[in-house]
This record gives sequence, structure tokens and C-alpha cells, in this order.
Amino acid sequence: MSVVKRLMEEEESRGYSRTDKAICASCFDDYAIRDFIAKNATGPVCSFCGQRDIRENIAADGNAVLAFVLRGLWSEYSDVDTEGVPYDSEDDEYIIPVYSNYDLFHEELADITDDEDVRDWLINTIHNHQWCEKDPGVLSPAQGLVAGWRDFCDAVRYKTRFLFFDSRPKRGPDEPTDIGEEPFYVYPAELLEELADAVKQLSLTTPLAAGTLIYRARPHETAIRFASATELGPPHPDQATAGRMNAAGIVVFYGALDDETALSEKPGNEAAISIGTFQLTREAQVLDLTNLPTVPCIFDRQRRQLRVPIAFIRKFHNDIIEPVQPDRQEHIEYVPTQVVTEFIKLRFTDQQGKKLDGIMYPSSQRCEGRNLVLFATQENIEGIQTERYVEPPKLLRMTESKTIARRTPL
Ligand SMILES: [Zn+2]
Repeated sequence: MSVVKRLMEEEESRGYSRTDKAICASCFDDYAIRDFIAKNATGPVCSFCGQRDIRENIAADGNAVLAFVLRGLWSEYSDVDTEGVPYDSEDDEYIIPVYSNYDLFHEELADITDDEDVRDWLINTIHNHQWCEKDPGVLSPAQGLVAGWRDFCDAVRYKTRFLFFDSRPKRGPDEPTDIGEEPFYVYPAELLEELADAVKQLSLTTPLAAGTLIYRARPHETAIRFASATELGPPHPDQATAGRMNAAGIVVFYGALDDETALSEKPGNEAAISIGTFQLTREAQVLDLTNLPTVPCIFDRQRRQLRVPIAFIRKFHNDIIEPVQPDRQEHIEYVPTQVVTEFIKLRFTDQQGKKLDGIMYPSSQRCEGRNLVLFATQENIEGIQTERYVEPPKLLRMTESKTIARRTPL
């Protein structure tokens, strides 16, 4: 083989043309690329911004950076020919979105750098492909989960309230699979387990210390005043109406971690509002949806495999905090979160095999406000008389109550 041919083949398999540039971390905005450069800096000068440091190396070999960027690209993108994407000759285009290098670095991955010289360098040195998403013929794992969640919500709202889902179609080892079957689609019957796996994988449970204060507000007319734990705690099952996290008749304890949030969660025209301050009598373990991780970028080799569960949990989170207009539809809109809450309460266990005491979620009424639903009824609150022969375990006690007049309604 001639030297020229061998060099051409080498370059072909490398996926980019060799470069004599060195580049510093500041020339990128993507955290994983910046991190890679910082860890692999071998020179004192950046060929792009001209930054120079006489004490330490700040720039990595451009070839290493190109190889790193390409590895990230190949984790989610592929080539239309490799994927066998059909071409629609009538419309003169591929049947799915296809990207050139220019499209990729100007649109799909535009935020990895705002330096146009760096962008042009990536576009011109990485071999141009007709890029498309990997496995374009089927839903991606992330899309499969999101489609599964959508169908799960639809199923519990309109098809089966009490979880008589169809199971995943079974077929023997020799039976051919249906054309178009989605390997990553999550059937409604499997959705809750997928959710549990994502929660465990992302370690989303957190302890709330004994003594943590939780506030519960109850609006009313000025003529009356509520001050006891029975009046300001959760209702008796006979009076429990449906809420975001509970079906009618099934009692949970709704509260907030500060009184302003508790107040803002109870908009209305009543003239006054009473607030009970409750305290955890022991440590409580809760699912924490208030501090979700951001979706890692495709260049983040350590955390790339978390892109799917994080994207799914964030979608779930956005759906559950979305405000629902109180009208006759609310009982249907709340069903998916009611089902998930019951699953977390009755079936979910954390990495240590322990059950959870509740779910913490952001307030949709108050920025930074945190709401809490605890799996506690009147029986779990100190000082409320119960008719049980054996005293139920306690989780909360009321320490204080106050009643305040509301602003005059407009
Ligand atoms: Zn630079």
C-alpha cells in the first residue's frame, strides 16, 4: 500500500483532519469539553484566543480535543448511510432530519462554544457526514420513556383507574417481532417500575431531620378560628377531597417548608387564614423533586448514561407541578400523580430497602418554595385522639398556630 493511501485511510478512520492548533478551556462553553481540556493541557498558548500562561499549561492538543468531541458526537449521532435511512426521491430529501457539520455546530450543538473561529474549526476539521440521530427507526430510550409516561397518564385518566393495564405482548423465541415494534417503549404496566429505577439511579431520596418545621394553612371566614391539631392537620377520611397527590377518601398530609409558601398555595377569597406549624418527631425519608440534576451533555463520559433517566424525571416533575385550573377536569388531571404517589407510598423502597415518608416538590405558586406531602393521617399526629387499640406510630406534632387576616379581596 502506498504511503499516501495509508495516510488517507488513517485519516478516514480518525474521523477528522489533523490539526496543528492547541485550544484552551475558555474557548468552549460546554462543561465536559472544558473539563477535558483542563485535564489534558499540554501547552502554554491557545491558538484561538491567544491566551498564554507562563506558569502552567492551559491548552490541549487540538487533535485530542477533536477526538474527544467526535466520541461524544457518535454517542448520539450516526451517519444516514450506516443507519440505512431511506431517501424520498419525490421530495428530494431523507425521511428524517439530517444534519451537516454546519447544522450540528450551528443548531443542535450551538451552545458548546460562542467563538465563531472555534466553531468553524470544528466544522472544517471534523469529516462531514449526513448526520442523523442514532437508531432513527425506533424511539430512543428517552423518547420511549416519555411516550410511556404520556400513555400511562392517558390510561389512568381515561381507560383504567385501578391499574388493569394490558401487559407487554408476549411472543415465543421463534416468533418474528412485529415490524415497527419499539424496543425502548415503556408499557404503562412497566412505567412505575421504570420511574422507581430512575429515582434509585439518581439517588433522589433525602432525609428531613427530626424537628423540621412544616406549615399547613387553612383559609376560613373571620368568625371562626382554627387552632388545634385536629383542625389544622389532615382531615378525617370522610372529609378528604381529591388533591394533586391523593384520591378522595385517601388522606395524606400536605404542607410546605415555610409559611409563605403554605399561604401562597391557598389562594382564595376567604377573609382569614390559619396556619399550623408542625414538627417532625423523627427523621423522615422523602423523594426530593426540588433539586433535580441537569441533563448531562453528550460529551460527559462519566454521566452520559444518566441522560435518559434525568430527562425522564424532569419531564415527570414538570407535569406534576403544572398548575391545574380548578374546574371539573381537575379530578381527571390529578389521577396520574395520585397513582404515582400511592406507588411511592406503598411499593417503593430506597437503596437501603426502606419505605419513604413522603414527596417534596417545588411550589408552582412561589418561586423557590418547597411543598411536601407526607404519608401521614390524623393517627400519625401527636395529640389527636384515635380510636385504635394499639397507638399508631407518630410522625408529627403541632407546635404553634396563628390566624391572620387576608388582604381585602379585589
Ligand atoms: Zn482559547
